[in-house]
Amino acid sequence: MQREPVPLMELVRQAQAEADGVAEVARQLQICNACRYCEGFCAVFPAMTRRLAFEPADAHYLANLCHNCGACLHACQYAPPHEFAVNLPRAMAQVRGSTYQHFAWPQPLGAARTGSLWGSVAAGNFYAIFPHGLMVSLFAPVFAFALLALGVGVARFWRTVSPGDAALSSAPAVGEAVHDALRLKYLDGGHGQGCHNEDDAWTLSRRRMHHLTFYGFALCFASTSVATLYHYALGWPAPYGWTSLPKLLGMTGGLMLVAGTAGLWRLRRRRHAAHVEPTQAAMDLGFIALLFLTGATGLLLALLKTTPALPLLLCTHLGAVMALFLTLPYGKFAHGVYRAAALLKWSVERRQPLALSIGE
Ligand code: SF4
Ligand code: SF4
Repeated sequence: MQREPVPLMELVRQAQAEADGVAEVARQLQICNACRYCEGFCAVFPAMTRRLAFEPADAHYLANLCHNCGACLHACQYAPPHEFAVNLPRAMAQVRGSTYQHFAWPQPLGAARTGSLWGSVAAGNFYAIFPHGLMVSLFAPVFAFALLALGVGVARFWRTVSPGDAALSSAPAVGEAVHDALRLKYLDGGHGQGCHNEDDAWTLSRRRMHHLTFYGFALCFASTSVATLYHYALGWPAPYGWTSLPKLLGMTGGLMLVAGTAGLWRLRRRRHAAHVEPTQAAMDLGFIALLFLTGATGLLLALLKTTPALPLLLCTHLGAVMALFLTLPYGKFAHGVYRAAALLKWSVERRQPLALSIGE
């Protein structure tokens, strides 16, 4: 695979488009300055008459003074199909768009604005919409902060529930805790037939849907990690083929995530009211919906990347991922981390001698 310098090419294309737009506004304003028929329509024309030349700064100024009312186009005797092709509303609109990009701060975020949310992108390359470096600069700090916040929170939890026990953690205790967490041992009801959801019947559905969701999420994370390795260590940028490791991991994980969260949503809606704390319903369902949206838009991105839906899908997917990252330490995701810590505490504790002598 060859490295494709798409982001750089995209920046060059944007700079050229901006220069072309400014030149076109300047060309049309030269004609208007000679004509001046539209002087009374708006502030653009009196402002125009104060200038003989139209530098980029003048074009940006006048383009933002234009309110796109269209009056000058409909009044203009030089509008298309006349060979002068004067169409100030459109020319001004184009320069206004480049203004938002040109003056954006931080500048790389301005470069992210490449226009429409609907339209084909060559070879389905989403880096043409969001350059790779921009994605990393947006998501890496947020994800790092989420990990830090979760880590600090669970460390405070551990110090409170298990003072001094860290030194007692042994490899068997840690192994058992990891094993129990990964198997969701305590959703088997103690007899292997499952837990309760909406009634007295045992069901393994909650355990299975949790597993689909957790391992689906893990595979999606693995897909992103492998793709990052490909990009930085091997110089193989996305997009990747259907049989590539990132794609296989991502598609499998996405399907599991969508199926698991759909199942969890259904189970949560049917859950016996006495099991749950009503004030947490929004957090539970919101987290499930966010995971579902992340998985579903990721799958659709892979399937529809060569269609005009790509920009809209990419923005929706990245928005869902960003919302997921931002809420990781403060939403339902935290339950997995705290529960794993509690399982470790139990594995350590049950290996210690009983402190109470009631039974004796
Ligand atoms: S828009 Fe057309 S009619 Fe109006 S001032 Fe310019 S050239 Fe003249
Ligand atoms: S489209 Fe813009 S330049 Fe033309 S009359 Fe309206 S505000 Fe003025």
